[in-house]
Amino acid sequence: MSGGKRRVTLPAEFHRLIRQGAKVLIIEDLVSSGTTVRLLTQLVEDLGGQVVGIGALWRRTKKAQIGGKEIFSLVSRDFPTYPPDSCPFCKKGVPLNQEFVKRKEHRKPSSAQEKS
Ligand SMILES: [Zn+2]
Repeated sequence: MSGGKRRVTLPAEFHRLIRQGAKVLIIEDLVSSGTTVRLLTQLVEDLGGQVVGIGALWRRTKKAQIGGKEIFSLVSRDFPTYPPDSCPFCKKGVPLNQEFVKRKEHRKPSSAQEKS
C-alpha cells in the first residue's frame, strides 16, 4: 500500500448513463479495503445516481458492508495485508514467495495489431 490518497475516476462514457435517479449496480473484481468501492459510490451519488447494490467476485476482507450496503461476493475469504514491520510471517522467518513477483524491467506488455 502506498501512502498516497486513492483517486477514482469514471470514464466520460459513463456520465450520460448516470443521471439523476439512475439506478447503479457496482461490480468489482476484487474488494480489499473497500476504499475504491466507497469512493465510486460517492462519485455515483454526486452525479445523482442511486447505488442499489455492490457485487464482487472476491471480497478479501471481513468487512461485508460499505456505506450501509452489503457486498455480495462469489468468494469471501479474509487475506489480511500487513505492513512489512508487523508481518507475522516475516517475524516467523517465512520467506516471501517470489513466484509471481517480477521486476518492472522484465515486464513486457502483450499486443495485437490489425493487419492492413
Ligand atoms: Zn512478511
